[in-house]
Amino acid sequence: MALRNIRIQGDELLGKKSREITEINERILTLLDDMAETMYKAEGVGLAAPQVGVLRRCVVIDVGEGLIKLINPVIVERSEETETKLEGCLSVPDYVGWVTRPCHVKVEALNEKGEKVTIEAEGLYKKALCHEIDHLDGVIFPDIADRLMTQEEYEELLEKSRAKNGEDEDEEEDDE
Ligand SMILES: [Zn+2]
Repeated sequence: MALRNIRIQGDELLGKKSREITEINERILTLLDDMAETMYKAEGVGLAAPQVGVLRRCVVIDVGEGLIKLINPVIVERSEETETKLEGCLSVPDYVGWVTRPCHVKVEALNEKGEKVTIEAEGLYKKALCHEIDHLDGVIFPDIADRLMTQEEYEELLEKSRAKNGEDEDEEEDDE
């Protein structure tokens, strides 16, 4: 396995659409392993292939429930009900943003063995799935955020909310 360089906002590759994977070969399996290693090293909860400069449709996610690797993930159902949560991104180090997404999504994808998997998710896992799949379509959260905050503004908000409520899970962003 090897660490790969994470592309940063402003890199035109992040705005491009990734191609579907038609064959799960050694190259793709190595890519997924490298993406997982890179994500853990950067302490993120998700990473999409374009973030390491490869325009292929695959993502890795670990929201604390174990590593998952998804190939050609597609959102096939989304709840009408939405929620607005804070998001961060390993490719967008300077900002966090409030992003509105469905409360619940159903995703179909292939696993590493090429088997079809169906995932129903909400909460942090749902947020990571939506965020990573956006990357595959060349969308990063500042493109769709209701409101952006600089890291500085975010730190101030965190301090205020800690002073007021103690630790508030809801105000935490995770880098994806
Ligand atoms: Zn991201």
